Amino acid sequence: MPITDVRLQAAEYLKAYPGHAFCDACLADKLGLGVREVRNARIGLAGSHEFEQEQGFCSVCLEIKHVIHVGWLHFDTPNDDAHHAFDA
Ligand SMILES: [Zn+2]
Repeated sequence: MPITDVRLQAAEYLKAYPGHAFCDACLADKLGLGVREVRNARIGLAGSHEFEQEQGFCSVCLEIKHVIHVGWLHFDTPNDDAHHAFDA
C-alpha cells in the first residue's frame, strides 16, 4: 500500500480517537497494516503540527512506548505577556 494511503488511514484513525495515544504495533493492529508501514506513516504524521509523538503510555497496550496522538490542547500565552510582566 502506498505510504500516503497508510498515512491517511492512520491520520483518520487518530482523529477518531482524540485523547488516545497509540504505539506503532497497536496502530498497525487497529488498521490491519504492517508495523513497518505504520511506523513510516507515524514519522510522517509527527512532522505535521496536527499530531504529536512522544514517549508515553499507549492507550491500547498500556506500555510506555513511542506513541503518536492528535496534538493535546495547548493554552499558549501570547509572547507579549513577557514584555508587560515588569511594567509599572
Ligand atoms: Zn500499544
